[in-house]
Amino acid sequence: MATSMRVAVWERPGEPLALHDRPIPDLGPNDVLVEIKASGVCFTDLRVIDGRSEGAPFVPGHEPVGVIAAVGTGVTEQLRPGARVAVHPQFACGECSYCEAGEDEACVLGTSQFAGLSIDGGYAQYLRVPALRAIPLPDALDFADAAPFCCAGLTVFAALRNGGIEAGQRVAVIGIGGLGHLAISIATALGAKVYAVTASADKTELARERGAVWAGDAPAAARELADRGGANIVLNTANVLDPVGTLLPGVARQGAIVLAAADGDVLPVPPGMFIGLQLRVIGSFFGSRDDLRDVLELAARHHIRPQIERYPLDEVNAVHARLRANEVRFRAVLMP
Ligand SMILES: [Zn+2]
Ligand SMILES: [Zn+2]
Repeated sequence: MATSMRVAVWERPGEPLALHDRPIPDLGPNDVLVEIKASGVCFTDLRVIDGRSEGAPFVPGHEPVGVIAAVGTGVTEQLRPGARVAVHPQFACGECSYCEAGEDEACVLGTSQFAGLSIDGGYAQYLRVPALRAIPLPDALDFADAAPFCCAGLTVFAALRNGGIEAGQRVAVIGIGGLGHLAISIATALGAKVYAVTASADKTELARERGAVWAGDAPAAARELADRGGANIVLNTANVLDPVGTLLPGVARQGAIVLAAADGDVLPVPPGMFIGLQLRVIGSFFGSRDDLRDVLELAARHHIRPQIERYPLDEVNAVHARLRANEVRFRAVLMP
């Protein structure tokens, strides 16, 4: 096996990532070493690199998938060298009440041990991963197609689950980007009727190809949904929250508004509506390792694939420039 690996490191705030060769990390007894075959690029990576003033250095990237290259002496699961795995990058403590309840995304460690957001992640040829965080990857999914499920697909799957999604419901998905385009396919696979909400006319056809029964802008979506009894779940994947407010006349009684993204200061929902319509508003962050296993199985069974662009690891800074310019359709994947 190789002894050194290529990595892209966030070394200093305000600077592009630096490409280096460094030694492959040693394993603890309960770790596995993953040879990364594909690693998705998430908008959150830019928030870290462009927005943070401290925390460097570490290797970004929290959507890694690959093959087990080595296992620690204490690893007893079916994780053997050669096994295909997806990495659940939130290295939760495994002991707090949230972890014990299977809600590892709510672990008391928060994001302090999150591969690619606070400790070394997936922009690398190899990654040391606690064995519990290596999730079997179904053979039906190729590596590049699987990578975006580690954050984008997982986040929207868990958000729909937290919203209480059931077959036959009407689900409005706001925003058709890295998260939203997968949310349409996932909600459709779960049996929902999806209304895709986007201001971009050129994305409505793609939404229908992914299974949406209807696609259009927020005012039209509100009218359409109101005529049909309202959306049981509104899943927001966009940063701006204005469309959430516009959509309110199209929300069903006892409906859930689930925020998987939000940049605004104020949620444009009149408080009286919480009571009058018995609305629930839920914030959903990431997802658990069980959610990751389930969404990968769902994707394999229903042939859900992200729309991706593939790049070599060494082009990571150019990929970030594309993402900043909003030119990526809809997920960039690095192939280390
Ligand atoms: Zn992400
Ligand atoms: Zn925990």
